[in-house]
Formats: sequence, C-alpha cells, structure tokens
Amino acid sequence: MFGKRITLFKLFGFAVHVDLSWIVIAVLVTWSLAAGLFPFQFPGLSTGTYWLMGIAGSLGLFGSIIFHEMSHSLVARRFGIPMKGITLFIFGGVAEMDDEPPSPKAEFSMAIAGPLSSFFLAALFYGLYIVGMQGGWPMTFNGVIGYLGVINAILAVFNLVPAFPLDGGRVFRSILWGWRNDIRWATRISSTFGSAFGLFLIFIGVLNALRGNFIGGVWQFLIGMFLREAARMSYQQLLARQALEGEPVRRFMKSDPVTVSPATSLAQLVDDYIYRHQHKMFPVVQNDALVGCIDLDQVKEIPRNEWAYRTVGEVAKTCAVENTISPDADAVKALSKMSRMGRSRLLVVEDGRLAGVLSLKDLLHFLSLKIELENGEKPGRRPEIPEREEERRKAA
Ligand SMILES: [Zn+2]
Repeated sequence: MFGKRITLFKLFGFAVHVDLSWIVIAVLVTWSLAAGLFPFQFPGLSTGTYWLMGIAGSLGLFGSIIFHEMSHSLVARRFGIPMKGITLFIFGGVAEMDDEPPSPKAEFSMAIAGPLSSFFLAALFYGLYIVGMQGGWPMTFNGVIGYLGVINAILAVFNLVPAFPLDGGRVFRSILWGWRNDIRWATRISSTFGSAFGLFLIFIGVLNALRGNFIGGVWQFLIGMFLREAARMSYQQLLARQALEGEPVRRFMKSDPVTVSPATSLAQLVDDYIYRHQHKMFPVVQNDALVGCIDLDQVKEIPRNEWAYRTVGEVAKTCAVENTISPDADAVKALSKMSRMGRSRLLVVEDGRLAGVLSLKDLLHFLSLKIELENGEKPGRRPEIPEREEERRKAA
C-alpha cells in the first residue's frame, strides 16, 4: 500500500505481507509498553523485563491483527470473493480485496467477522488474565495478556464505528445497500460518515497534541487523514468501476501505437523513442507480429558505451503478462491491473499481434466525463486512484 513489503508466510492459502511502514508501529508499541505502560502498572521490575514484556505485547498485537484480518479473508472466501492476501502496514492491517462484494449479505458477514474476532480475542485474553491473577501466575505474563485483552477490545470497538471503509462502515454500507438496493448511494452515505469521523479524529488529535500528548495526538491526526483519504478513494473507485463495467478495452485503446523494430540500436531507441515519446516501455514489432517488449530497466543494464552497436532485438524480452491485456477484456480489469502493477500503459494483444495501446490517461478522461454526465456530480478532482497508486510506488 505504501511501498516495499515483505511476504512473511502463508496461512490457509492467504499470503501475509508486512509493509516496511509496519516497523514504525511495532517500534512505537514496544517502546510505549516497555517505557510507559508496564513500568506504570507493575512497578519494581527490571528494565530488561519491561522490554521483554513490550516485545511480547507487540508480537501479541501483531498476531491479533493477523487473526482479525484472517477472519475477514476466510468469510470472504466462503462467499467466493477473491482475496489477494493480508498486508500489515502502519495503520494496522488490510485484507486486500480486488472487487466489490457480490451482495449486501456477503459484505455484512465479511465485515462483521473482523470486530467479532477481536471481541473473541479480548474475551479470551481477559479470561486468561482473570485466571492468571487468581492463580498467582507471574506478573510479567499477566501484564502482557491483560494488555492484549484491552487492546483487542479497543480494536473491536474502533472497527465498529460506522465510518467507511472501516469494518463498521462496511457493515453500515451493507445495511443501506440491502435496504435500497443501491450500492452507489450506500457507499456515498457511508463514506461521508467515514470522512466525518476522519475529521473528528484530526480534531481530537490536534487537541491532544496541544494538551501535551504529542505522540498520541499526531497519531490520531494521521489516522484521521488516512481515513478521509480512504473514504474518498473508495467512493471514487466504486464510481470508476460502475462507469467502466461492461466496456471492453477495445473501446478505449489507441490503435497504431508507436512501435520499435528489433534492428533499432539502443542509442536510437533512447534518442528517438524514450526521450521523444517519454514512455518507459515500448512494444517491439516485426512483420506485424509483437516479438517482445523493451523497457528502461533493460536498457540500463547495458553499459552506455555499447548502446551504439547493441540492438533492441538482442535486449528485448518477451512481454510480461503485467504489460498486456486482451481487447475484449473488461476495462475495469485493465484499470485494476494498472493500479496493481503501477503501469500507466498496457499493450493490447490479440492473436500475437499488437492491436493497440491502452493508456491510463484515456481511461481516466473517459471516466471523469462519464461520471460528471451520468451522476450529475462533479468529481472534485478527477478519479485518480490508480495514478496516485503509481506515484506512491515511484516515491517508495
Ligand atoms: Zn477489520
């Protein structure tokens, strides 16, 4: 979501990734437990013990969030919603979904599963804590499970706020959607709530920061900003999906794209194609057949002094699936492919021939016209979801 991520393991067939931004929260949680909460609650232990408790607490939080996201994913799978995996990032976790849920009931079940699983963990840890306190278990152990009980309860409650796209907002949307059978209206209302709740968090954050709780305040401020942006993007994404649904790629592609012949030298490619047309990737075409793709990275691997005599044909590789799409594919599919892969152009390939090129710019242009005309609402900014995604990837 924000940048580099590492894949940790697979659980029930879902890949669990950790975004590097998660490390920030892991450090922050460990530190605030080891230096703040535990010494305050259980005075008299050694610094090393507090740090061990802090690490155990943040590992427990980590496991709790995976448990929460996993329950979303498992319910989604029961409803046949394709899930890409789970990513933990700076503001928690997301179970990544490619498409809108098929029905209000599916969305309701999938969304409520998360908070329910967190309540379940809260009850479990709290139960253990009670048993531990009465049984005289070590203070260090009781402290950590007590914390996990409280934090899971907080997670559950926070996620029940009807602010889309938080879980509670999804529950809210599914109810509205089921009531009026209009997903666009339901998304608009619930994302307005999401946006308002974001604003509320920003306000609380500023207040807290002014009253001296600086880290907590900044944190609330950032989560509020994030929630507002997520609410806005989810709504725009829905509008984009609805506008493009059922439209084939063929309709938006430009036939007659700029192509490179395999005999072209790399020096010519750089001067006459890359600098002139400012694309990062070009299709290599010979006798009407698409023979490969050449991109900046492949050129960079060749030492500059060889560019004059090495040819595109030697260096180009077979076009990766991430770069191509069929002319009959749904434009929604093309848009989500671009967003996922961070591409701004796709080659439209039919029977080994290059039929055209689909550019993100053309898709977005069509989208903003259609949304403005048919929904009577002016997108404040044009629907720019995939492009932003690409910018983020570049920045990372
Ligand atoms: Zn959730």
